[in-house]
Amino acid sequence: MNLIDTHTHLYLNDFAGDIDAVIQRAGEEGVQKFYLPAIDSTETENLLALEKKYPGKCFAMMGLHPCSVKENYKEELDLVYSWLQKRKFAAIGEIGLDFYWDKTYSTQQYECFHQQINWALQFDLPVVLHTRDAMQQSLDVIKEYAGKNLKGIFHCFSGTLQNALDAIDLGFYLGIGGVLTYKNSGLAEVIKEIDLKNIVLETDAPYLTPIPFRGKRNESSYLKYIVQKIAELKNITTEEVAEITTQNAKNTFVV
Ligand SMILES: [Zn+2]
Ligand SMILES: [Zn+2]
Repeated sequence: MNLIDTHTHLYLNDFAGDIDAVIQRAGEEGVQKFYLPAIDSTETENLLALEKKYPGKCFAMMGLHPCSVKENYKEELDLVYSWLQKRKFAAIGEIGLDFYWDKTYSTQQYECFHQQINWALQFDLPVVLHTRDAMQQSLDVIKEYAGKNLKGIFHCFSGTLQNALDAIDLGFYLGIGGVLTYKNSGLAEVIKEIDLKNIVLETDAPYLTPIPFRGKRNESSYLKYIVQKIAELKNITTEEVAEITTQNAKNTFVV
């Protein structure tokens, strides 16, 4: 089986003690590539160091996470832009809107979102979107760029069937991970109706650990539980799930 974890924060401190074993275990479950979303400048050094340690396996994105949009957001954006000019990244992400924790900087979140979408168009990169308590608002932003060939992933997609269809209509993939295994998420019912050609797989490790490990640290080898769940929901083989979602991931990222 050949799998790609399209969204995993393996560079965070949670993995500092055993990253080699984590990558090894993922490899044993068929996970060959790891796409690493950026958060903010405090993590850039760790992010790039992991990519350097695993060339051809780990790929860095660049961007400012909506939860990191604070009073210093202009400096943070400047840093993102200077990195984008310096070298190639797999995508701009994770970017978007998050009104779950804090709405203090919602205006600035919109500003950062638009700015980074424009850079994605300028540098011809896909975007990896983080959206929490802001699905419709995020879709509305993306709609403003319809016809501009903007592409990417709604990471950790957890909206309604209509949200899913709208995202697909806009040329986006749905990033599906551990939430699919949570009984009350309602996501399984949505995914049943969605063609596999619109789905990519992700763990969002160390967060959103799938059942049966919910509550513990997540890691990329657990991608297999997502594959199994999708296969079960769609009544197809795990090989089919792997083949199609891996192709989708390859279609998304430039490296
Ligand atoms: Zn996220
Ligand atoms: Zn993430």
